[in-house]
Amino acid sequence: MSEFDIISYLESKDIEFWDSGKNVTQGWINIRCVFPHCDDHSNHLGISPDRFFNCYICSETGHVTKVVREIEQCSWDRAEKIVKSFREDDLPQSFDNLPQAKINDCILPKGISKNFNDLYKQYFKKRNYNLNYLIHKYDLYEGGIIGDYKFRIIIPFYLDNELITFSSLDITGKQELKHKHNPDDNAIIPIKHTIYGIDSCTNEMILVESCTDKWNMGNGSGSTSGKKVTHEQINLIVGKGIKKVLLIPDSDSIWEWEKVGNKLSGLVCSVEMIELETGDPADLSEDMVKRIRNDFFKKGD
Ligand SMILES: [Zn+2]
Repeated sequence: MSEFDIISYLESKDIEFWDSGKNVTQGWINIRCVFPHCDDHSNHLGISPDRFFNCYICSETGHVTKVVREIEQCSWDRAEKIVKSFREDDLPQSFDNLPQAKINDCILPKGISKNFNDLYKQYFKKRNYNLNYLIHKYDLYEGGIIGDYKFRIIIPFYLDNELITFSSLDITGKQELKHKHNPDDNAIIPIKHTIYGIDSCTNEMILVESCTDKWNMGNGSGSTSGKKVTHEQINLIVGKGIKKVLLIPDSDSIWEWEKVGNKLSGLVCSVEMIELETGDPADLSEDMVKRIRNDFFKKGD
């Protein structure tokens, strides 16, 4: 069994962490101590590569499950479940180290690569996206300068860690389709039968329309690849055991998504919706995203 993916977990909780610098042993992850009796004002709780921790201030020590339990204020049982749900081998595999021929064998388009040129870099920069972070986290590719997916970011879709289809995003602003999806007959699962990013969701989910919305909202969010939410997508949410859903539709889809909310509210414990006045969740500032996430994910079970 692989180790608990502490970084993904901390990111999903919006907890600041350090993997280098003051107080941090190489290979360890440090956070501000989470135990209430501790007087740590910086980053003295260190988590080792084999997922044990100790705090240099209050001397709390043990397995990282204890830290998760303290963060979540939950039972041991639930903390263990959370630790299990963030196992490293549950994360999508990256194609980073595969030879080009192998990439061409799979359903992703031919001729793609990770050599994002300046055009792509400008696109990400203009939108304040952290290119390297997104490429790694979401296994993105550039679609080259010829072919069906030229000048597009290729976005692989995973479900239960399997590559099932992909979408692509125009970087020029001039192509007819902003989002161009893989045709269903080349997909393992049709794009409207899945939710992009659902593997990052456990009990709670922020549901948005597009991949860029999902990137901005972070772990625990998923996107429907368009305004319409299909019954396959609703079944997927319910089947995964998600209990709380926060809908953040684009400002021009609020009316349609109210109906989605009504449908979902009979099937999951709690449904909320945020109505944006303009634009979409990809436009939300970092601060606003943080506030929404804190509010939604920290309300307890
Ligand atoms: Zn401490």
